[in-house]
Amino acid sequence: MSCGLCLNDCPTYRVIGDEADSPRGRIHLIRELLAAPGAAKASTVAHLEACLVCRACETACPSLVPFGRIMEGAREEIAQRRAPSGIRGRVRAMLVDVVTHPDLLAALARVAALYDRVGLRAIARRVLPRRLADMQSLLPTPEGAPYRPTPRDDADVQLLAGCVMRATFGDTQRATVSALERGGRSVGSPAGQECCGALHAHSGLGDRARELARRNVDAFGDGDAPIVVTAAGCGAHLRAYGHLLRGDAAYAERARRFASRVRDASEVLAPADARRSLGRPLRVAYQDACHLAHGQGIRRQPRDLLRAIAGVELVTIADPERCCGSAGIYNLTHPDLAAELQRQKVAAILAARPDVVVSANPGCILQMQAGLRAAGSDVPVVHLMRAVGDPAYLSKGASSSKR
Ligand code: SF4
Ligand code: SF4
Repeated sequence: MSCGLCLNDCPTYRVIGDEADSPRGRIHLIRELLAAPGAAKASTVAHLEACLVCRACETACPSLVPFGRIMEGAREEIAQRRAPSGIRGRVRAMLVDVVTHPDLLAALARVAALYDRVGLRAIARRVLPRRLADMQSLLPTPEGAPYRPTPRDDADVQLLAGCVMRATFGDTQRATVSALERGGRSVGSPAGQECCGALHAHSGLGDRARELARRNVDAFGDGDAPIVVTAAGCGAHLRAYGHLLRGDAAYAERARRFASRVRDASEVLAPADARRSLGRPLRVAYQDACHLAHGQGIRRQPRDLLRAIAGVELVTIADPERCCGSAGIYNLTHPDLAAELQRQKVAAILAARPDVVVSANPGCILQMQAGLRAAGSDVPVVHLMRAVGDPAYLSKGASSSKR
């Protein structure tokens, strides 16, 4: 099918306006790539790398084309055909693999905290060239201490600690545990778990993505307890483990069962578990993370949880499912396109006049926060589970904003 119904839902096509940067155009390029042996053409690589893998085209497609899987397969094919000594590929692989080192991420988070405390972020924003200033604005400021995964023999849900979530969203992870426990759950988080490997899979690093997936299947074991995830990008990827390891006789079945246990935290919590009062009215804009809405079909549950908090008035932003331009390391590899998508998202948010923005993916939170700051707004952007698990924080964060 080449109906083109996905074109207007594709963020890159809407900005660039070139068929080769649309889902249909990219599928055509992938067909050409597979038909011809040898290294991929530079123009093909550029159009495929410009894809955000946001999967908005999957939502739009009446023929259920699994575009995300097709794109990940194409990127792995391109990486395999590249000269093994290619410096660009090796640098990218090293950059992506940083996320598999929680201690290194935690150290970077501490540096970022110091950077903020001494006022360097604000100075850098004024004096650095625009591209560098944009990059530094994405440095996450850590929330409290890193989250330490704690195994529990009696756990009836298993929390994925994550990489960025563990290092810089420690308070959000702890708020998730509190909210689940208030709902009567016993929460464990197994030792030996790794980064989910989503960034590796998106970057064509298939072997490393499969290695990380096998380790996680081993770490989480073969029980029935739901595997609870607080990062939309990780959740969408964990649900694809069955596909990722389909060719591995020792793991294929275990990976399929693992994937069937994956739940976003918003699916496990009931609105009754979120029922608290803010003590005052608060306008809250919920931004759908691509990999929650398009990747996992989860749209209603986060909104139900927010509505259960007395005082929350949910306000709608235009195009809430349009990618904000974060997309893993996209804002580093394609800064101009990412900045344009960020600008559009910030304009949509500001038009809705929220007191606070809520999302369920760390990359989106950092991207929106940086965009709002650059636009002169201090409207806070809060993780969904921090908002649900710690409503006092939600209220306090919004009070300090001038909007
Ligand atoms: S995944 Fe997103 S950016 Fe890529 S083709 Fe589909 S809609 Fe466009
Ligand atoms: S991906 Fe789906 S919506 Fe897009 S052109 Fe192909 S069949 Fe049509």
